[in-house]
Amino acid sequence: MNKIIKPGFLKNGKVCKTCIKLLSNKGYYCKRGDHSIERIISISNTNRKNVDYNFAELLVAVCLKCDNIGNRDDIINNVETIKCLKKDEYIKDINCRSEKQINNYISFINKEKKKFGKIKTVYLLGKNTNCFPEITELNQNLSQIQCKSDIMLKLVNNSWFGISVKSQKDSFLTNYSIQKILSNGKELEKVKRDFLKSKGYLEFKKEDRKKINSLFYPGKENIYWDSLYNSIEIEKEKVICSIKEGLCSSNTPYKVYEVDGENVIDLDKLQEELYSKKIELVKKEYPNKKAAKMWYDILVDGIKKYSIEIRWKGNVFCSPQIIIQKINISFS
Ligand SMILES: [Zn+2]
Repeated sequence: MNKIIKPGFLKNGKVCKTCIKLLSNKGYYCKRGDHSIERIISISNTNRKNVDYNFAELLVAVCLKCDNIGNRDDIINNVETIKCLKKDEYIKDINCRSEKQINNYISFINKEKKKFGKIKTVYLLGKNTNCFPEITELNQNLSQIQCKSDIMLKLVNNSWFGISVKSQKDSFLTNYSIQKILSNGKELEKVKRDFLKSKGYLEFKKEDRKKINSLFYPGKENIYWDSLYNSIEIEKEKVICSIKEGLCSSNTPYKVYEVDGENVIDLDKLQEELYSKKIELVKKEYPNKKAAKMWYDILVDGIKKYSIEIRWKGNVFCSPQIIIQKINISFS
């Protein structure tokens, strides 16, 4: 937690002791409105957005647990009502977000919360899904891809729901290694390393990144992209299966919903759709783009529903990731 944050001031000009105490113990300000304004300014200047602890997860968790949540301070002040081991990390992220983004998401989730029934306990899992024994027990025998819930809800009737939270409609839905899905992943890695070696690159160096990336731009001759394309063609059904598995929440002993700030998607229903309709994976060409990527569309019964990018997170010596985004979520 960043401790060098200015506390608020009282009307008599003195520093607020409640703020100082809360800042050093918990990392946030007291409840007085103008003190919180100062908190937002000071933190947003020093902290970058944190992808591991996304504000939307905390927001959804607290809104589902408590009634009458209307703004950022309500969320922070009610953070103790949920079970979570990384509250400070989430508070840091929510302090970096704009009032508008937060308030829009709050009104969305408040409008939808009755769908989930009477909630007893809310668990916000964060990166580690194994910190609560009761959740670990529920998820036994499931793989990481299958456990996509960020939040677990225990209802008053002791049944469970999972919620996968996306901060916006076009958030990435998956990111996993394409070479791990394909059975010749190791060979592909070798093809890539030999290609890079032939161009004079033996290991990843930050300063080479631009030059290396340009080798992977569309329209350039690149044996790795050609081999990857052919491998995907050969194992297309397998790739499509992994995509379906990544998008739905197969095999969980509880129902899972995905929320994205605009829609609540029942992943069981999505699964029914995806498994009953024809799924096609079609390569897209962007000959003039300056990006080290390969693009596909996913068609569901002939209609474009998702777009895929295959690309690196930075280090081209690793396997590229397969990243899926919604194009149009209205399945009908
Ligand atoms: Zn204060």
